[in-house]
Amino acid sequence: MITKIAGSKKDIFYLMNKHSKAIAKVEAEMLLEYLFNCTKLDLYIRDFAVDETIEELYDSLVSRRLNKEPVQYMTGCAEFMGLDFIVTRDVLIPRPETEILVNEIINSSQFGCFQQPHSNAIKYSSSEATKFPNREVKILDLCTGSGNIAVSLARLMPQAEIVATDISEGALKIAKKNAIRNQAGDRVKFYKGNLFNALVFAKNPKFDIIVCNPPYIKEGDFPFLQKEVREEPEIALNGGKDGLDFYRIIAKDSHRFLEKGGKILLEIGFGQRKAVEDIFLSYSIFDVYKVIKDFSGTERAVWINLL
Ligand code: GLN
Repeated sequence: MITKIAGSKKDIFYLMNKHSKAIAKVEAEMLLEYLFNCTKLDLYIRDFAVDETIEELYDSLVSRRLNKEPVQYMTGCAEFMGLDFIVTRDVLIPRPETEILVNEIINSSQFGCFQQPHSNAIKYSSSEATKFPNREVKILDLCTGSGNIAVSLARLMPQAEIVATDISEGALKIAKKNAIRNQAGDRVKFYKGNLFNALVFAKNPKFDIIVCNPPYIKEGDFPFLQKEVREEPEIALNGGKDGLDFYRIIAKDSHRFLEKGGKILLEIGFGQRKAVEDIFLSYSIFDVYKVIKDFSGTERAVWINLL
């Protein structure tokens, strides 16, 4: 707890404004939360003393930021779906756009798309109802990274069964820590391996929903990425020559891991919608039924049905 230093003339608002031309307010807040080990609300309601040491520390964090170091790697945490996630250089920093995927899944199951048979009892004959048992939704999160999608789903869908995979040992370590940090340590099963290969040791690996925010940046685009993005792990970003490698594997293998009527929800990069749809439609066992735009109007996610 920092107490006010007698005679100190500077307060937290002095710091918040000090570099306001250089960094965004939200970033200043994140750095100050880290520096004072407090919440955002605390910044505005508590009385913090700002001495020379604190000011120097803040200045040095800001200069690291100006050298394009992502704030989340400096502070070691990121917010996603209102939850707190640990992030290190082993994981992609969770993006607000990815929250769209979590919200989509929550909404789709709330509206009874996967909860059978009670709400749809009239629609299904009894034999169909047995094929579609009354049980909790099973969700697979591929390329889980920090575990942001899997852990948020575990928290927000208390009955869902959630499995998450990642090829990176370092990322899985963080994802497991994030599950524990968010009281979901016993709710997500983690497996290490490349996409579906990770599931060789999983019991009955069949899911109602497969969700994935795969690496989707074209290899050739790397030199042109913002410097901040290039600080993130290449393994979490590199989608191969045309950025579509992961969609191809998911389209080829996912049917073996989906329950009847199962669905796939994929995050996509700018301008990739048509190419991703074509990959799935070329198998004639899929149907694209919804495309979701992000806050800036960019097509950001696609829902695919297994027919
Ligand atoms: N699932 C994580 C996210 O959505 C990591 C994705 C990745 O590493 N490509 O942020």
